[in-house]
Amino acid sequence: MEIYVLGSGAVSARSGYPGYLVDGTILADCPPGTVKKLYRRGIDPCAVTDVLVTHFHADHYFDLPFLILARYKKTDAPLAIHCPEEGRRIIPQLLTLAYPDIPLKTVPLALDHGDRFTAAGYAVERVPVVHGVKEQCFGYVLERDGLRVGFSGDTTPCPALEAMVGGCRHCICECTLSAASPKHMGIDALLALHEKYPGCRLYTTHMTDGAREKLQERPCDGIEILDDDRCIVL
Ligand SMILES: [Zn+2]
Repeated sequence: MEIYVLGSGAVSARSGYPGYLVDGTILADCPPGTVKKLYRRGIDPCAVTDVLVTHFHADHYFDLPFLILARYKKTDAPLAIHCPEEGRRIIPQLLTLAYPDIPLKTVPLALDHGDRFTAAGYAVERVPVVHGVKEQCFGYVLERDGLRVGFSGDTTPCPALEAMVGGCRHCICECTLSAASPKHMGIDALLALHEKYPGCRLYTTHMTDGAREKLQERPCDGIEILDDDRCIVL
């Protein structure tokens, strides 16, 4: 598996909005700037087969109109968008708002809200994590040939995240804040998670600049702080 890091920062951070491209075909979230990054890497957006949307906060999906525009009149292959159920309402609204004069709704999409599905040869499991009380948010676990890799989405410390980390060899895990909140992980919670499940390598993302600096002061084997444009090969 090759994971290209589109971005690794929280909304207020200097680093980019969080998202990942897996094997050039699966997007884990589609943050602002995604399609431009694909072009810069020489990747045709039509090569993307699946988008795993963790939740509907703008920093995680606002490049969908550009991804779908890039497919307009270019391909009839449906783009699979795995997302929370409210995507049925939000995505058509977003497309109309983005380009009212272009019938982007004619681009074939396959919206999916299942808990288990396959994407580009991976068995994928959707994991409900806890990101405040209102937002429905999911992490995703991708598995192939015994390799299990987790993507936490935005989450506070919760049993579902623990189960993900406990069952994966590698996990891209949010660590937004210095101290955990009802919506986000913090450094102590991350370190505790690693101590409990040392068999899982953690890659921190969605970090504020402050959390990034504080975690840099507490280096730990088994925890890597992600940077934008990094490529992880597993
Ligand atoms: Zn969020």
